[in-house]
Amino acid sequence: MSAARILIVEDERAVARGLEYALTSEGFQVLWAKTGQQALEMTRRENPDLILLDIRLPDISGFDVCRQLRGAGHRQPILMLTARDEEVDKVLGLELGADDYIVKPYSLREVISRIRAQLRRAYGELSGAARGHKLQFGDIEVDPERLVASKAGRPLDLTPTEFRLLHYLLSHPDRPLTRDQIIEAVWGYDSEVDYDRTVDVHMHRLRQKLEDDPANPRYFITVRGVGYKFQP
Ligand code: CA
Repeated sequence: MSAARILIVEDERAVARGLEYALTSEGFQVLWAKTGQQALEMTRRENPDLILLDIRLPDISGFDVCRQLRGAGHRQPILMLTARDEEVDKVLGLELGADDYIVKPYSLREVISRIRAQLRRAYGELSGAARGHKLQFGDIEVDPERLVASKAGRPLDLTPTEFRLLHYLLSHPDRPLTRDQIIEAVWGYDSEVDYDRTVDVHMHRLRQKLEDDPANPRYFITVRGVGYKFQP
C-alpha cells in the first residue's frame, strides 16, 4: 500500500515529533492528535490506516479511546504505547481491542517494524495469501475474500487481528499450534520476544465472541504446555 496514513495520539510534543520524523522518513503520512477527544474526531474524519495510541493523555485515557473506537466500529490496527512494562496495562489494552502494544522506552526502529507488520497483515498479505474459499464450521463462517465472519448468519464484529487469528486456526484444524507459531503467522513477528500474553488475550476475546460457553470452550482448546488447537 502506498503512503499509509498513521495517526499518532500523543500529548508530549517532543515524543510526537520524534515519531513523526521517523515515520515520514519511512514514507508514511502522519496525522497527530494531542488528546483523546482529538484522536476520536480525527479517526472519524480522516480514517487513518493505523493508530499509534499513547495510554497517558490529558483528557481521556488511551484505554478509553481504544474502547470507544472499537465500539464505534473502527477496525484499523491499534498499537498501544504503554509507559511501563506493566502486565495490567498490556492486557487491558488488548482486552479493549488493541492489536498490540509497545513498551516505552522503545526504539524507533522497533516502532516502524511493528507498524509495517501490522499494515502488511491488515491490508496486504491476508487478502493475497488467504484469498480463496470460505471456511465453515458449525454455525460459523469465515469469508477471506470479503474479510468478514459470521455466526448463525449474524456478522461477527472482529478486528483485523482477530479475523486473522480465527482464519489461521480454522485453516489448521486438529493441530496443536504453539504461541510462537501463532504470533508469527498472525502478527508477522518473529518470536524472539515474549508475546504469550498477546496470544492469550486474543484467544480469550475470540472465545468470548465465538464459543457458546467461553469458559468451557468447545472449539478453541488450550493445549497445555503447547498453545492452542482448533477442534472442529
Ligand atoms: Ca502521554
